[in-house]
Amino acid sequence: MALYPQAEFLLSANDPRQFPVDRGTEVAFAGRSNSGKSSAINTILGRRSLARTSKSPGQTRLINFFGLGGEERLVDLPGYGFAKVPVAMRQHWGELIQTYFEGRESLNGVVLIIDARRGLTDQDRQLIDWIETAPRQIHVLLTKEDKLNRNEARQALSTLTRELGSRATAQLFSAHSGSGLEAARSRLRDLLGDRQKSTPVASATGAD
Ligand code: GDP
Repeated sequence: MALYPQAEFLLSANDPRQFPVDRGTEVAFAGRSNSGKSSAINTILGRRSLARTSKSPGQTRLINFFGLGGEERLVDLPGYGFAKVPVAMRQHWGELIQTYFEGRESLNGVVLIIDARRGLTDQDRQLIDWIETAPRQIHVLLTKEDKLNRNEARQALSTLTRELGSRATAQLFSAHSGSGLEAARSRLRDLLGDRQKSTPVASATGAD
């Protein structure tokens, strides 16, 4: 069954003035182009194609807002790190995202998508700094776990948790195999404040 059966596309914004009214609770998904962000959103929500998986990486420069029912929203931030994107567009992306993170009061938490084979990049680190301009929780999904063997997956998780420490929780995830899916869903509910008390996912396992 879908996690949020009422999930629906609300609007795409290219300018902060187009953002929906800043009320209720929002969780944003962010990550490099091709990190598996759209696949993660669709798998976690149990909806095949709510977020469009990128056919041509770097093309979407818009912030996509989805309503989850009530005053809850999921926000799909444009992927970054695609080398062929023109400088002016990259600059626009930076300003848009920075404005979003600095001013968005309903933003409660961010799910940061990192390709487990790649690990944290400087752009991910920059993004984390922007996210932390306000007190917000960050949860990292180390995606495409199915492409790693057990040892590599464990290494990827421990490298990440060593660098981020208490700044984020983290887990392994695969949209293809479904590993880590229940943990990711549970964390999303926490970030949206759907449970009274948040129960941190043990950061050393990707197991459900
Ligand atoms: P986005 O650009 O970050 O939204 O990434 P997409 O979700 O469009 O995925 C980019 C590519 O990675 C696509 O070819 C997906 O099929 C692939 N991909 C996404 N998730 C997984 C996963 O869990 N395992 C594997 N092996 N490939 C994945």
